[in-house]
Amino acid sequence: MRYTDIVIVGGGLAGSTTAAMLGRAGIAAIMIDPHTTYPPDLRCEKIGGTQLPRLRRTGLAEEILRPTTIDGEVWEARFGVVVVKRPSDQHGVMYDTLVNTARAQIPPGVEILHTKVVEVSTTDDRQRVVLADGEEISARLIVLANGLSVSLRHMLGLQRRVISECHSVTLGFDVAPVGRPALPFPALTYWPKRTADRMAYLTLFPIGSTMRANMMVYRPMDDIWFREFRENPEATMRAVMPGFDRMAGDFKVIGPIKIRPADLYVTENHRQAGVVLVGDAFATSCPAAGTGTDKVFTDVERLCNVHIPNWLSTEGMGRTKIEMFYDDPVKTECDAWSAAKAWHLRSLSIDDGLTWRARRWARFIGRLVQGVMRRTHRPNQSVTTSRTSPQSHQGRTA
Ligand SMILES: Cc1cc2nc3c(=O)[nH]c(=O)nc-3n(C[C@H](O)[C@H](O)[C@H](O)COP(=O)(O)OP(=O)(O)OC[C@H]3O[C@@H](n4cnc5c(N)ncnc54)[C@H](O)[C@@H]3O)c2cc1C
Repeated sequence: MRYTDIVIVGGGLAGSTTAAMLGRAGIAAIMIDPHTTYPPDLRCEKIGGTQLPRLRRTGLAEEILRPTTIDGEVWEARFGVVVVKRPSDQHGVMYDTLVNTARAQIPPGVEILHTKVVEVSTTDDRQRVVLADGEEISARLIVLANGLSVSLRHMLGLQRRVISECHSVTLGFDVAPVGRPALPFPALTYWPKRTADRMAYLTLFPIGSTMRANMMVYRPMDDIWFREFRENPEATMRAVMPGFDRMAGDFKVIGPIKIRPADLYVTENHRQAGVVLVGDAFATSCPAAGTGTDKVFTDVERLCNVHIPNWLSTEGMGRTKIEMFYDDPVKTECDAWSAAKAWHLRSLSIDDGLTWRARRWARFIGRLVQGVMRRTHRPNQSVTTSRTSPQSHQGRTA
């Protein structure tokens, strides 16, 4: 039997960031994940906006952002027209690179075991974890960061309440220009024309020298539209985004097309002694709303900067201690904001009610005004030129 203070089950973004933070703080921890290297997976492929300050609070931003590509500017377009060009801080990165970079920050003092946890049991004092090879670990706290996996839940009496099945579907693929060296924009967000197309938006952003695309739609997984997309992606894109190639020029989809649905769920009966859930293990988010990493960084930062050091300073790991994390106002505010954003974007994209139609037009006109004001203040910026080259993170200020 091995002994430690914290055992982290799962080495995805949440588990790896936790291990790196605890290791840097000199807290004894062991992380367990079956993959020696996190494999390619369609998940979060860019970090920006609200995610950056949250990531900075983990103390790992500089290292985690190093392999990313910053777009610098994003164009927003609808009806084939560029509505606004605005400065942007989106950092493009494939999910496996993101997780493997976080893992590389784990100091040698934290042991990483490449196997599966097959059994967990908890008490008010010490917790027990059994690995696939039969080895056992005794820890003061289990951090459950096993993402979407359901395998260990029944042992802890955890229930998953699905709030919205197949809330949105993400399509991930690469796009290349035809007959030209580059597309005319550094990054692009393209809004659909009609609600009937059941699309939130298309986002194009650079990762290295590749233009990566994430298309977010609201369709059931058995919708024939997905088959049509796989068979003829360019034509399917043109049908839902008329005018797109008028502004983007001729383009082709290259490489594999990955399609992945996301359910919104929350975990119940989680207020227990000895175990704390972070990231997707606690609750999922809508990929279209793009708040999953906000939740991961917030959970991990609060847990490692505030709660774990407090909990370890006194005896025991009872439920009252664990509840401090779930009731942390920074965490609860982030969770509530993420859930609200998931529903707001869905209605804004596909709801035909009068209020939502008005909101859509308000968003469009708001961006149009922003665009005009920007062009007024930067008159030499035309809507068809000024392609800014994407840059690697190194040498830039995050
Ligand atoms: C299609 C898609 C697109 C997304 N796009 C965005 C986006 O644009 N922006 C954004 O912010 N968020 C996005 N998200 C959400 C974001 O990617 C997730 O919230 C985040 O990756 C969750 O990280 P995690 O560490 O909780 O889970 P994971 O990364 O899934 O990690 C879980 C880990 O647990 C391990 N594990 C499982 N069972 C066991 C076991 N028994 N023993 C040991 N290890 C185990 C697994 O091997 C895995 O490594 C997207 C999600 C999806 C599905």
